Amino acid sequence: MEVVPDYIYPDREIDRAEGQVINDLKANSQPVIPDSDAWLDAELKQNILLTSVDTMIDWAQRSSLWTAICFPACCAFEFIAANGPRFDLSRFGMEILRASPRQADLMITAGTLTWKMAPNVKRIYEQMAEPKWVIAMGACAISGGIFASGYNVVPGYNHIIPVDVYVPGCPPRPEGLIYGIQMLQKKIAKKSLFHKEKA
Ligand code: SF4
Repeated sequence: MEVVPDYIYPDREIDRAEGQVINDLKANSQPVIPDSDAWLDAELKQNILLTSVDTMIDWAQRSSLWTAICFPACCAFEFIAANGPRFDLSRFGMEILRASPRQADLMITAGTLTWKMAPNVKRIYEQMAEPKWVIAMGACAISGGIFASGYNVVPGYNHIIPVDVYVPGCPPRPEGLIYGIQMLQKKIAKKSLFHKEKA
């Protein structure tokens, strides 16, 4: 004869237990639960915020920078650390890395760039939608670093794409990168749809 262990309930018992849970919920769900945010309506009527289109757009853009993946060398590990829980880049709305440049508006160039790879990086940059920004992370990205005199090394990303912020170091620490990102956010805050630069 087959021995059925104690902890396996027959189907009928499971149905009965589930039915009991449903009946209890039905019995206790007759009154409607009041909306805990109902007070908001009255409060909101007294709070009207006025701002400019520029301020709203700049706030949204600098608070949700999405980074295109462009990490050709060792600086990338400091970027990875910055993105981890200890330094927590997501505090700045930018923990998302995009494999598609069409979904990214920031390129963090973390590493040495060779001339062989340069056309691909330039193409990735060109495929990113406007507005877009570039942070040169580390000595190699800024000037070629210790490899600058190599025949195969691009002596700075700014030879092939425009760079907005330079973060020095070999490699820069995550705090340095985060400081650079904050500098970029300040730069974005000065951007205007209608004027060259906000006052
Ligand atoms: S700056 Fe230093 S750490 Fe960064 S890619 Fe160049 S050699 Fe590597």
